[in-house]
Formats: sequence, structure tokens, C-alpha cells
Amino acid sequence: MNYQYKNEFRHSLVEWFNSEKRDLPWRRTSDPYKIWVSEVMLQQTRVDTVIPYYNRFLEKYPTIQALAYAPQEELLKMWEGLGYYSRARNLQAGVKEVVEKYNAVVPDNRHDISKLKGVGPYTAGAILSIAYNKPEHAVDGNVMRVLSRVLYIKEDIALPRTRKVFEEAVEMVIDEQHPGDFNQALMDLGAMICTPTSPKCLLCPVREYCTAFSEGVADQLPIKSKKVKTKKVQFNVFIAMDQEGRYLVEKRPSEGLLADMWQFPMIELNDQIASDDSFQQNYNVEITGVADKELLKFKHIFSHLTWEMDCILVKVKQNEDLPKNVHFHTIEQITALPMPVPMTKILNLLN
Ligand code: SF4
Repeated sequence: MNYQYKNEFRHSLVEWFNSEKRDLPWRRTSDPYKIWVSEVMLQQTRVDTVIPYYNRFLEKYPTIQALAYAPQEELLKMWEGLGYYSRARNLQAGVKEVVEKYNAVVPDNRHDISKLKGVGPYTAGAILSIAYNKPEHAVDGNVMRVLSRVLYIKEDIALPRTRKVFEEAVEMVIDEQHPGDFNQALMDLGAMICTPTSPKCLLCPVREYCTAFSEGVADQLPIKSKKVKTKKVQFNVFIAMDQEGRYLVEKRPSEGLLADMWQFPMIELNDQIASDDSFQQNYNVEITGVADKELLKFKHIFSHLTWEMDCILVKVKQNEDLPKNVHFHTIEQITALPMPVPMTKILNLLN
């Protein structure tokens, strides 16, 4: 965008905001504490839901000191129904820090405000721009969507690092005279006009400056890769030692995940049968003692799968013949076998 274009874009956006903005209680104040409360409440929660909570909350805690020293149980009660209760706890911790460290004045710079508990880059930017009129970015999902379309930014917004691209974009186009209005205008435009599906381009105040509109690709932006859902499976891993100090290991099937690799016996947890019973039955051994119930606990992440491993060190004696591909081996022998990463983690511990 050239300079002239940028100016016109800002002007149209802020003008639209001033004539169309919703009358919301937190828009009638420039008190950074109150704006902070509203921004925290608005995270993951709809505006209509927040309004009565916000009003009640500020009646109860009209000043930053009142919230800082409120009993936690009472605070959680005030928050009841809003969900994500850690927000309330973090807000109180942050507010308390302001009272004690900054003499009850919310910091007016990104460096200090970002250090407060629960204040991420978005909340910091919102407070700084709305309450203190600082030209600071406040990038949320709405802002990324609008700017990806206006500026034709094709970075994947599902990737955390992409936020930086949009923060820089805001810095480039922000209205330095009215940064709070500008940021809120972008958010409102995203919520009301430039919606995820079927954006209302014909009603849009910045249509003239929107590359996605002129290219006819508004529906294709922003680019957002689908999150791959990873399946979680919980296992008890039995590190089973016989009387001679050898360990039980087995070879995985020749097909499928980690084919033909060696492992310590893994029992998938289920509600029907205790894992130690399954272990004893499946491997024809008897547990004679538990040496360490919590030898090691860790997760191993494959691309679509997470193993949650709880490793137990037990002493065993052999009942009958061991099943096929199952052996007692010394540490030296095991070290020579091919083992997948999660198993070498256990082996290193035994070594
Ligand atoms: Fe969004 Fe359409 Fe406006 Fe572009 S013209 S900002 S795509 S609503």
C-alpha cells in the first residue's frame, strides 16, 4: 500500500468504526484496568455474554486495589459461568502485581505490561492502544482474517509464528493518531462484516483497498491449515527383571508402526482388565515384586499419535515358555537390538 492509499484506508476504517461501533460498556471508559478486565473476559467468550459479567464485576471491584485483594473464592464466584477460570486467577495475580510493583498504575509500555501474569501480546496491545493511545498492534483471529484479505497475506494463520507477520502488518498500517479506534475497528470489521464465510464485501468500508476483493478471492483467505488430530494412547511399560538380572523384551510385529523393532512389554491401559494382569497373562510370567512403580513417565509424539508411557520396574519369574519373539536378555544384549526412541530412553535409564 502506498502512503496515500494507506491514509485513505485508515481513514475509512476509523470513520466507519466511529459511526457504526456498538455501544459497549467498556467503550465508555479509558481506564486501563477496566479495559484489561473486558479484554480478559472477552477471550473465548461472546460479547453478549460478557456484558452482564463485566458490569457486575466492576460494581464489585471498582478499583484495581479492590480486585487485587479480593478473596479468591469470591472472585471465582463472580466469574462462575464464564469458564476458563485460570483467566480470573491470572487477572487477579496481574492486577496485584500492578498494585504492588507499579503503585496501582497499569504500565503504559509493552515491555512492562507483557510481563504481567496473563497478559499476552494481544491483551497488551489492546490495553496500550485503547487506554493509552499507543500505536501498538493487537492481533487476534479477526484481525488476521481482515488483514490477510486486505493485504493479501497468504501465510498459514494456524502456525504460531504467523502472528508476527500480522503484527508487523498492523505496525505498517495502524492509524497513529487513533490507534485504539483503529485496532477496535479491525476487530469489529472482522466480527461483523469480514466474517469467516461469506464476507459482506458490498457493505465493507474498506472494499476499495482490499486486494482479496479485487482479485475475487476473499473466500479463500486466510490460509489456515487443518490441525492434525493426534490420537492419545496410554501404556504401562513393564521393565521386568528376572532372578538373573535379565530384562524381558519383545520384537514388534513385522508390519505396522515401528515394525520389527524391539521394546519392553507395553500394555495399553483399558478399564476392563488391570495392566499387570494383562502383562502376566500375555507374557507367561509372574510378578514377584514391584521395584519401582514410577520408574519413568513420558510422552512420545508420532505425527498422528501420542504414546503416554508409564514405566514400572518389576521383578518376575517365568511360568511357562515365553511367547514367540519374547526373550529375557542382558542389558548388553538389549543394547545391541534395534529399539525405537521411546525404548532407548528407558534403556538409557537402566544403563
Ligand atoms: Fe473483508 Fe470483503 Fe471487506 Fe475485503 S472487502 S475486507 S474481504 S469484507
